[in-house]
Amino acid sequence: MLATLQNVPPLSTKTGFLIDMDGVIYRGHKPIRGAAELIARLLEEEYPFLFLTNNSQRSRRDIQLRLKRMDICVEERHVFTCAMATARFLARQNPGGTAYVIGEGGLLNALHVNGYAVDDLHPDYVIVGEGKTLNMDMLEKAVTFVNAGARLIATNMDPNCPTERGMRPGCGAIVRAIEAATGRTALALGKPSPITMCEAARELGTPPERTVVIGDTMETDILGGVQLGFSTVLVLSGGTRRSELNEFAYRPTHVVKSIGDLLERDLFGTIAAWRAAAARCACPQSSSPTWVAAGRWAVEAATPQAFLAQRCS
Ligand SMILES: [Mg+2]
Repeated sequence: MLATLQNVPPLSTKTGFLIDMDGVIYRGHKPIRGAAELIARLLEEEYPFLFLTNNSQRSRRDIQLRLKRMDICVEERHVFTCAMATARFLARQNPGGTAYVIGEGGLLNALHVNGYAVDDLHPDYVIVGEGKTLNMDMLEKAVTFVNAGARLIATNMDPNCPTERGMRPGCGAIVRAIEAATGRTALALGKPSPITMCEAARELGTPPERTVVIGDTMETDILGGVQLGFSTVLVLSGGTRRSELNEFAYRPTHVVKSIGDLLERDLFGTIAAWRAAAARCACPQSSSPTWVAAGRWAVEAATPQAFLAQRCS
């Protein structure tokens, strides 16, 4: 127990930010107005923040380089991917395990760093991430391994990925094919899974009442934040229109047109207001309306919620 506590980093006394990238920081290869300035301000004021992405393709270093080309200069430690959350979760659940992987460098690297080996014969897990190299042979292997007892893990359930030409099937679409063929249901990580949100918050080092999620997708960024009692900011520069908000049983804390508005509207004054409001709230309880509204995630959230409760007590 003592060793576990010693491994927990001290919580920051500042507000921390979990920031989605696609639709928030950039669209395709184009940065969104105000993004670079906001990140520069966070760095200057030493606010903790992480770019939190559901894309498992790229490693931290790859993403750092991509951001640098948009004049957003951050360190590798500012990036947290669903591949990292998946690998860390599995390393705790089953240290030194093996996996058949449908995915690319970011996912493979995260698994190796966390003590996992790729196995094409008798893997413990079939892990599915983003990638452009999928073929029928890979799907057939995945189905065979799952039918033989391998556990099916999805790094995220996003059904599609935006591209400059439109969109391509995402990790969720590939997972659905394997689920349909095997009759098994994947354990889905990535946003909005509380497993990933907790892992990111732990990396960020801020408690729920001082954690803010900024994202463009209600079903992932905002739901993930709402479930864990974080403040949430929906930006309308990505895939969500303001008129669609009534379709959801949960609400973001704030809605802005784009991330640049946070600068123009005095980000730090806004943060102070959130902190004052959040200080009146305890950790989310399993019986709260938020958890009921979250639907399918309510059950899966039980374990990480207990984890968060420890951090808040
Ligand atoms: Mg997005």
